[in-house]
Amino acid sequence: MSLLSIGSVAYDIIELPGKEPVKVLGGSATWFCTAASLFSSPNLVAVVGNDFANEDINFLRERKIGLDGLERANGSTFHWHGRYHEDLISRDSLRTDLGVFADFVPKVPDAWHSPDVLFLGNIKPDLQALVLRQVGDVKFVGLDTIELWIETCREDFEALLPSVDLLFVNDDEVRQISLENNVLVAAKKVLSMGAKAVVVKRGEHGAILVSPDGLALFPGFPVENIVDPTGAGDSFAGGTLAYLDLIQDFGFEAVKRALVVGTVMGSFCVQGFGPRALAEVKMTDFRQRVAKYLDFVDFNGKQLLTDLNF
Ligand code: AMP
Repeated sequence: MSLLSIGSVAYDIIELPGKEPVKVLGGSATWFCTAASLFSSPNLVAVVGNDFANEDINFLRERKIGLDGLERANGSTFHWHGRYHEDLISRDSLRTDLGVFADFVPKVPDAWHSPDVLFLGNIKPDLQALVLRQVGDVKFVGLDTIELWIETCREDFEALLPSVDLLFVNDDEVRQISLENNVLVAAKKVLSMGAKAVVVKRGEHGAILVSPDGLALFPGFPVENIVDPTGAGDSFAGGTLAYLDLIQDFGFEAVKRALVVGTVMGSFCVQGFGPRALAEVKMTDFRQRVAKYLDFVDFNGKQLLTDLNF
């Protein structure tokens, strides 16, 4: 079992409606690894600056996240400033400072060269490619991105698609990649561009898996107390890929179960503020919520088809 990820390790300024901006540890890889570490020991390749606090290193270390690939460079840590709208879904990126990521050349430590599962988290596609090139045979590759990279680095991004087993995108991103409006048509076009499967994330409305093996729908797990949605997408990916790494089965049915795990992970993420809150989630509570989720989506389908058989 081994899970490797690259992505941002960041300081975020988060502005929630009616609240003062708050600085908090963030970054796509931080969220991914925090989520994955609930039942896996992910390894992290990223860079931080001189301003990155030792207490944050300690937080990652205590989560048993492998830090041999976390470089400390001269300069400032990646900073992202996001402002949420009243709906706590849509947000504006007010500032993105790459800081030390601008000159970062990722180096995967020798001992990590053959991970079972690789997550190319949201960061510039050329950095994702550099990591992909350094690893040997990987059993499963997940990739996440955002509109910024699709728009500004389309060629680099598209070149990655044939290496991707599961692409994590939202509605807007899948439309932007494919230049198609209908989400299903768009996802199928992305398959034709090389990705083996696509999961379209639709926030509280859940997710759709589109693959040559079929479609699957995952309703969101409903929660009343949404505190901060930052990191939900990365936590979703973290739960999904940590589960696949755990069971070492990468078939369609396994990916479907993994996306249930990801969905539940995302629901815990939005109920707290920052990765430290997500790290408080206990395995017993997680398991209980998975059981509830399975209960919610259990329609006794065979009975329903029998009833309609007239
Ligand atoms: P999510 O809410 O799942 O999209 O993840 C939000 C995290 O992504 C935040 O903690 C940010 O630090 C990080 N982030 C935001 N913009 C970027 C970007 N352009 N590149 C890499 N990471 C980013």
